[in-house]
Amino acid sequence: MSLSSLEGSLHRGCGGRYALHTEQVTVRLSGMASEVTREFFRCEKCEHEQRTIEQRDAAEKQATDQIRAAHGLLLPKEIKQLRESIGLTSAQLADVCYGTPKGIVAGWEKGRYLQNREADALLRSLLDPETLEYRASRAGVVLPSLADAVAVAAVAAGSAGAAPETVSTPSADED
Ligand SMILES: [Zn+2]
Repeated sequence: MSLSSLEGSLHRGCGGRYALHTEQVTVRLSGMASEVTREFFRCEKCEHEQRTIEQRDAAEKQATDQIRAAHGLLLPKEIKQLRESIGLTSAQLADVCYGTPKGIVAGWEKGRYLQNREADALLRSLLDPETLEYRASRAGVVLPSLADAVAVAAVAAGSAGAAPETVSTPSADED
């Protein structure tokens, strides 16, 4: 495990050795905060301190989990399930969420970013069909069910030549 990579290693500046210690820190994410125990290394001789990327990441992961639990925020997989249940691509969901950059929505689903409480409430509100329809129309996003209805109406009117190929369906290709 790379967390202990510096344990016992030489501090060239003074010839001392690094040892593992822990500290209590407050990690702030998306306007929320959590207390976590973070590991770091301290030179036994001169007290020089080093914090590795792995140690920072581990502390942030712990804080994310605690904040998510404390505020009852949706889990990454729950956001993905919610999006799929309403039939939107990440890009469309981003638009519906007040034009959130789409990389952020993908990051929520991958657990790379933590949605704040407002975004979490907004996501949940989309499970209500009327709210979803309202927000989608405000954002200029055509919902899959409505796209089907439009296509059916066009076919019924004979204006689309009844060819399914002419019906554009929401593309699911993402990067
Ligand atoms: Zn030292």
